[in-house]
Amino acid sequence: MKNSKNLRDFTCEELEALFSERGLPAYRGRQVFKWLASPFVESFSQMTDLPKSLREDLAQEFSIFLPVLEEEQVSADGTRKLALRLEDENLIECVVIPEEDHFTLCVSSQVGCAMGCAFCLTAKMGFKRNLKPHEIIAQVIRAKEVLIRKDLLAEKPLRNIVFMGMGEPLANYENVLCALKILFDERGLNFSRRRVTVSTVGLVPQIERLGRDIKVKLAISLHAPDDETRTKLMPINRRYPLNALMDACHKYPLPRGWRITFEYLMLRGINDSPEHAQKLARLLRKVPAKINLIPFNEHPLLPFRSSEEKTILRFQEILLEYGYVATIRKSKGRDISAACGQLATELAA
Ligand code: SAH
Repeated sequence: MKNSKNLRDFTCEELEALFSERGLPAYRGRQVFKWLASPFVESFSQMTDLPKSLREDLAQEFSIFLPVLEEEQVSADGTRKLALRLEDENLIECVVIPEEDHFTLCVSSQVGCAMGCAFCLTAKMGFKRNLKPHEIIAQVIRAKEVLIRKDLLAEKPLRNIVFMGMGEPLANYENVLCALKILFDERGLNFSRRRVTVSTVGLVPQIERLGRDIKVKLAISLHAPDDETRTKLMPINRRYPLNALMDACHKYPLPRGWRITFEYLMLRGINDSPEHAQKLARLLRKVPAKINLIPFNEHPLLPFRSSEEKTILRFQEILLEYGYVATIRKSKGRDISAACGQLATELAA
């Protein structure tokens, strides 16, 4: 049973093909796909529109295991951090963030991370492994189940997904791509392409590939406007320096009206001067960009401090003067270590 294939790792087309290969009608694949997108489905026996014998055969051969909710923490601001236990006992976290008219879910793509950014707590865990498609999708389904149980989904939908939890999504390319296909499929979870954002440290070849393979929103964790500063913060900048990264962003196919979000951590005395703001404005000149300034979430293990509020406001003002859309991210869920860069599964220790 443990080694059986998990049908939740299949796109709808792949499920159809799997059923066809067995001499079964392709629409059986679509039926299963739909069940697997629904909350509270744990067993083939619940798939009541399939013949009983087929359900039994499938149960013999395949798994539909979904990582299990291990712990839920609720912040004073309503943000919820969910810890899910994977089949191999590893733990991952995702964060449900209440917005005015919807919920945003922040998902993880790896257990730990190999990118080694100096300011990020997940980096301190090191890299354990990539998540499978079903382990990414599980975060969406478990989040929905929590919201349904609390009667919160009746108020507003879980509408947005950001790949800004643990891990580097583009370093787990195939599985993230598969998960995106499952998320966007109208026959299942049916997320809108303009509501799902893949955030990356800037893996240039994978950004190019993503642009060719699927239509999805892109965010770049930039954090510095020059190579010298960026390399100190993000080792990946040595491999893909800013000119290569900007080139990939410039070429990323954006539907009309879409912009690439550039995330910029505000680190006191490191990257937060007016000169940095001007350099940033010049750097992004050729890209349809939106800049999201992120006050740094401090932590005893991290050797940085957040910029002061007035510094952040001045930085924003300069970007606005240049004509950019520039917002300041309101940090949520800090009291439960659910804020950006704070996911590190303490439970695993
Ligand atoms: N690997 C991807 C996605 C995960 S990080 C990426 O780097 O984009 C999600 C965001 O949180 C990134 O922009 C990251 O730089 C930011 N972040 C990391 N540590 C942080 C911290 N201590 N405070 C605030 N934001 C942080």
